[in-house]
Amino acid sequence: MSQPDFLICMNCESPCYIFEWKNGEPTEVFCEACGNEDPDDFATSEDLDAMTEA
Ligand SMILES: [Zn+2]
Repeated sequence: MSQPDFLICMNCESPCYIFEWKNGEPTEVFCEACGNEDPDDFATSEDLDAMTEA
């Protein structure tokens, strides 16, 4: 999986462009909108597409 253009904060659903990407997942990410910085709380747009399908 290649690096996405942005990650989506699962707290506030804002796109976040400031992040470090390694081995197919974010290692560091920061949401400017709500201050969230837990990589587990972010998703890629592909993840969201998969979730919202069906
Ligand atoms: Zn946020």
